[in-house]
Amino acid sequence: MVSEDLNRLSGDIQLIVDGKRLDGRGFDELRPINIKVGVLKRADGSCYLEMGKNKVVAAVYGPREVHPRHLADPVKAVVRYRYSMAPFSVEERKRPGPDRRSIEISKVSREAIEAVVMKELFPRSGIDVFVEVLQADAGTRTACLNAASVALVDAGVPMRGLISSVAVAKVDDILVLDPMKEEDNYGQADIPFAFFIRNDKIESIALLQMDGRVSRDEFKQALEMAKKGAMEIYQMQKEAIKAKYMIESEEVNSDE
Ligand code: UDP
Repeated sequence: MVSEDLNRLSGDIQLIVDGKRLDGRGFDELRPINIKVGVLKRADGSCYLEMGKNKVVAAVYGPREVHPRHLADPVKAVVRYRYSMAPFSVEERKRPGPDRRSIEISKVSREAIEAVVMKELFPRSGIDVFVEVLQADAGTRTACLNAASVALVDAGVPMRGLISSVAVAKVDDILVLDPMKEEDNYGQADIPFAFFIRNDKIESIALLQMDGRVSRDEFKQALEMAKKGAMEIYQMQKEAIKAKYMIESEEVNSDE
């Protein structure tokens, strides 16, 4: 076993070197994000999103009839969210099918999405959101929420705003935005956030989880860092949605 592996096992890996993160980012810097809207022909709405080395795809179906029928709600739409990791998305093959972690992520992500979807407009119907992780490098729940939010817009589902999501981690006693795998694995804390953003303004927190410990002041600082990061993501989500509709309207115009 090489000494680097031994360091890792003892949790002694240095994550901040000469004031920089291992991938060269500043403390409040996001990983590069790439968003493509409308990538799947058979879904009502879809989105492919890269957040650093994470690669995820979201597919939305609905509003449509709910199956099984007894799950339908007479006053509002039922939102379902399925988070799933491909077996090849992680270092150690992931056994296909739901596990405790993916069931938990699906639940908290659905609750976040429900904060923005105008469910009351579609009684007795269902809106299904499927997110698939193709490549994972920490922060997959945040990447998936960002993709799901865009896919819902692409499906034409009426929404109060967008969900933008990013995590903050504490590594080597320093708070860092959007942790990658090494920071997530060997850091002291990991705090994924999601925000409901409307008209360029953060309305509320739609998801907040925490692994590890931070002080009250660190938490406040983490929240501010996450808000700033989420606003940057929000702008990229809006740009990606606009880009798709600009291309479509150009195609329509050139057909005329
Ligand atoms: N991971 C893994 N195998 C698993 C689950 C997770 O290798 O079965 C890795 C993956 O890279 C993931 C990271 O651990 O992104 C962090 O997982 P966590 O549960 O914190 O969720 P995430 O940060 O992806 O939302």
